[in-house]
Amino acid sequence: GPILEVRELTFRYAARPQPAIRDLSFALEEGEMALMAGPSGCGKSTLLRALNGLIPRSYKGELRGTIRIGGHDPRAWPMARLSQQVGTLLQDPERQIVAADVLHDVAFGLENLGWPRAKILERVEEVLHALGIAHLRDRPTFQLSGGEKQRVALAGVLAMAPRILLLDEPLASLDPQSAQEALAVFRQLHREGHTILLVEHRVEDALQAGPRRVLYLEDGRLVFDGDPESFFERV
Ligand code: ADP
Ligand code: ADP
Repeated sequence: GPILEVRELTFRYAARPQPAIRDLSFALEEGEMALMAGPSGCGKSTLLRALNGLIPRSYKGELRGTIRIGGHDPRAWPMARLSQQVGTLLQDPERQIVAADVLHDVAFGLENLGWPRAKILERVEEVLHALGIAHLRDRPTFQLSGGEKQRVALAGVLAMAPRILLLDEPLASLDPQSAQEALAVFRQLHREGHTILLVEHRVEDALQAGPRRVLYLEDGRLVFDGDPESFFERV
């Protein structure tokens, strides 16, 4: 069955009368990469919050419908378990960097899981190498460029080996050159078999990461679910 299954998901923030997402249903198979797009305010961030547990843990409101990750209800999991299942790359890498140097930043999640030091070091080296940033290992994080910060934040997420990777507007904070490099990394992760939901309103740019599926939201509703060619042919 699918890794991620969302069925008739509706969420209304306590402070607003209208739901931010309405009756969303879709599923992602293992290894699939989907682009979720739509105009500002259509509900992209809200869906991500529902998938990574911030809804209902931090955002209060009225939630209906179901989410299944590997067949299980993520609401039943403690946050530590959830972060091993769903890895989120935040829109602003500044908000994701937690440590003074790269090694400790990427190690942070594994330290919280109580991994032994040698195993952590091995895993961090492996992830940094896979993302082409092994040379940054001992650098202070404040010295990194925006693109490097995002890559380090991504390393910290991947170190946890999540079953699904959520990328929240990953191009928004990058200059054109860094955005091209980021797209190449996402393409590589897809080729390696990661299951990825790429949320990005810059559709044409994001398609360079190679998703074969577009999910388009308007006003909280899923109004298109299909391949990129059909997306551009729709009226
Ligand atoms: P949020 O951070 O709430 O997810 P968005 O990422 O949707 O907000 O929007 C970020 C910026 O991009 C906003 O200034 C918005 O006006 C602009 N924007 C949103 N959608 C589009 C689009 N389809 N084309 C061009 N600009 C957009
Ligand atoms: P997007 O990420 O596509 O820009 P959002 O999920 O941020 O869309 O927003 C969907 C709707 O929910 C918008 O009308 C937005 O104003 C509203 N919204 C977003 N966050 C909150 C919040 N914390 N409290 C109340 N309303 C919110």
